[in-house]
Amino acid sequence: MAVLVTGATGFIALWVVDYLLKEGYEVIGTVRSQQKADKLTKQFGPSAKLSFEIVPDISDIHSFDHVFEKRAKEIDIVIHTASPFHYNTTAYEKDLLIPAVNGTKGILNSIKKYGSQTVKKLVITSSYAAILDPSKVSDKDAVFTEKSWNPATWENAQLNVGNAYRGSKKFAEKAAWDFLAENKDSVSFKLSTVNPVLVFGPQKFEEDVQPQLNTSNEAINVPLHSKPGDKLNNTQGNYIDVRDVAKAHVLAFQRDELIGERLGLSNGPVNTEGVLQVLNEKFPQLKGKLAESPTPGVVNQNAGATFDNSYTKKILGFPFISLEQSVYDTAAQILKKEGKL
Ligand code: NDP
Repeated sequence: MAVLVTGATGFIALWVVDYLLKEGYEVIGTVRSQQKADKLTKQFGPSAKLSFEIVPDISDIHSFDHVFEKRAKEIDIVIHTASPFHYNTTAYEKDLLIPAVNGTKGILNSIKKYGSQTVKKLVITSSYAAILDPSKVSDKDAVFTEKSWNPATWENAQLNVGNAYRGSKKFAEKAAWDFLAENKDSVSFKLSTVNPVLVFGPQKFEEDVQPQLNTSNEAINVPLHSKPGDKLNNTQGNYIDVRDVAKAHVLAFQRDELIGERLGLSNGPVNTEGVLQVLNEKFPQLKGKLAESPTPGVVNQNAGATFDNSYTKKILGFPFISLEQSVYDTAAQILKKEGKL
C-alpha cells in the first residue's frame, strides 16, 4: 500500500516524502509536470519506492480524478500539502483562494468517488493562518489555540494578499471538516490537519537553494544577504522547523490518537532581531556585515496575541528543533551553496 503526497515538489512536502521513504513506505507524489517528476526521481534516486502522477493545476476541481481512477487500489493514506503559498499576486481568487479550496474539495471528491473503501487516513497541511484572527494579533490578552478559527469571510479575503492567503487556508481546511461531517456514511477515511506557523529550515536538496527561497525561509534569507544600513522589515511571528513539520504529518496518520486533531505546530515566537542574533553569533564571518535590527533590544517576544499549542506538544510528545538550530541549518546550507562556507 502507498502514501499519496500532493504537491511533492514543495518545501515541506520534500521532507515529508523523505521521511516516508526512510520509514519504508511506498510513495506516490503528485507534481505539475513530467520534468518535475524526472528531477525528483533523480534527487531521491531511481531505486526509491517513489512514483509520480501529473496534476498540473489543482484549481480544476477534477484534477485528482485520474490519479485515483488509476491508482486508488494502491493508496491507503493521503497527505494533501499542495496549495499556493506566496504573496506575489493581486488576483486573489484565481491565484490563492480557488486553488486552495478546489484542491481540497477536489481530492475529497476523488477519494469519495474512487477510494472510499481503500483510503484510511487523510492528513491535510493547513496552517496557523486558518487559526489566527488578524484583528487580534496585537492584543496581548488574545490567546489562540488548536480550537481557534480565523474569522475570514470570502469578501474580506479580497481586501489584500495577507487576508487572501489566510482566507485560502481557512476555507480549504473548513471545506475538509465540513465534507467529512456531510459524508460520514459514504467515506471511511479519518482526517487530521497539520497547522504550522512560519516554517524555517533547510531545503531537502542543497541544489534547490535559489537566490529567492520559499516564502517562509525568506525571513532568514533576506537578513542573511543584508548589509549595514539596509532597512529590514521586521518578521514578527512564531516559527517551527520543517523537519518537525514533516514528522508531524507522518505521526498524524500513524497514531490513531491523533485522528480528528488539528496539530498546531509552533516552537515559540521569533522576530528579525532573533534571526540576526543567531546569524551574528553562529557565523563570526558575518559579524558587522549584516543590517541592524529593525527592533533593537526586542528579541523573539510576542508582539501581542499568543499561540498556546501546549495540547499539540503533549499529544505529539517529541521536542521541537530550536530556533538556533533551525536558523543555523538554513543559513549554513545557503552559505555552502554560495561557496561561502
Ligand atoms: P511551496 O510553495 O514550497 O509548496 C507548495 C506546493 O503546492 C508545491 O508543490 C506547488 O507546486 C504546489 N502548488 C501550488 N499551487 C498549485 C496549483 N495551482 N496546482 C498544483 N500544485 C500547486 O510551499 P510550502 O512547502 O511552504 O507549503 C506547503 C503547504 O504548507 C501549503 O499548503 C502551505 O499553505 C502550508 N504552510 C506553509 C507554511 C510555511 O511557512 N512554509 C506555514 C503553514 C502552512 P510547484 O512547486 O510545481 O509550484
